[in-house]
Amino acid sequence: MNVNSIIEKYGYNEELASNLRNIYPYLVSYFKDEQAVFNALNNIPIVFCEDLYDCLVEHDMLGALDEGAIASPDVIRDAFGGHITNPQFKYNVESNSFELAESRQMIALNTKTITDFEPTLIHEICHAVKSYNNQYKVDGNIATEYSGLARRNYSLSVENGVVKRNLIDEPGIGFEEALTELAEERVYSMVSGIDYHSANYNITKEVAKRIFNYGIDDLQNMIFEAQMYHDNSKLEAVFGDSFYEYINMLDKVYGYNIDYNDCETKMDQVNVLRTYESYIENQYPLVDQMIRNKLSSNMDM
Ligand SMILES: [Zn+2]
Repeated sequence: MNVNSIIEKYGYNEELASNLRNIYPYLVSYFKDEQAVFNALNNIPIVFCEDLYDCLVEHDMLGALDEGAIASPDVIRDAFGGHITNPQFKYNVESNSFELAESRQMIALNTKTITDFEPTLIHEICHAVKSYNNQYKVDGNIATEYSGLARRNYSLSVENGVVKRNLIDEPGIGFEEALTELAEERVYSMVSGIDYHSANYNITKEVAKRIFNYGIDDLQNMIFEAQMYHDNSKLEAVFGDSFYEYINMLDKVYGYNIDYNDCETKMDQVNVLRTYESYIENQYPLVDQMIRNKLSSNMDM
């Protein structure tokens, strides 16, 4: 496994090539799984976009999704980039069931919004690596896309012979984004030799980090495994349902974080922070107590 074969395969420019050579060993040491890092990079092209929205349209990445689930062009244009997926599903008439036809994806970097693209590149590669194994599951007319701890649930339907997907919900996105920011910080700190802190999703990151204060041995590994292989059974064994309470809370906090980032005035920001603070003041003690109860009942066993 050699990153140079990937660079050659896609004909990446010298700037991207040298960045990939730089970060590859640190990604491997972070994930402790070279095959996973190699597979993701080998199968998912990295594209520089001057206009992110036009770029996604041009690469046909907004595809068969219902319009309500796509962010507006201006929101997309303001993003740093993304690990973009555009899965195509088909209806198999013989087996009478939906199935995955093609898993199209790319890592897009927005040259309009980012000057130093290395941290964003690391972030998006982390999403890609954590999506790669068993990425899709189809059950009846529900398709689930896994990205680390996050799940994107789609309902599938056939319209004029074409399979459409409709985003139902995205549970786990808050915790997953926070963990990916923390991964970006860790890997970029190793790469650059500076103590790097990203400026994104700060509120969510702070709440997400609280789970590490329960002092559970092996928690990092359990979370890691759940992210890579999309199996929460070990986390469920430790935390029970309180794990999902925690996940729900982080989703809500993530929503506040996005509202905060989207605010146009200081006054709006203050208002979002106030609502967030009263939410977390009420919610966190409840979830914390649930987790502690679960942990102490586990100890009694
Ligand atoms: Zn992200």
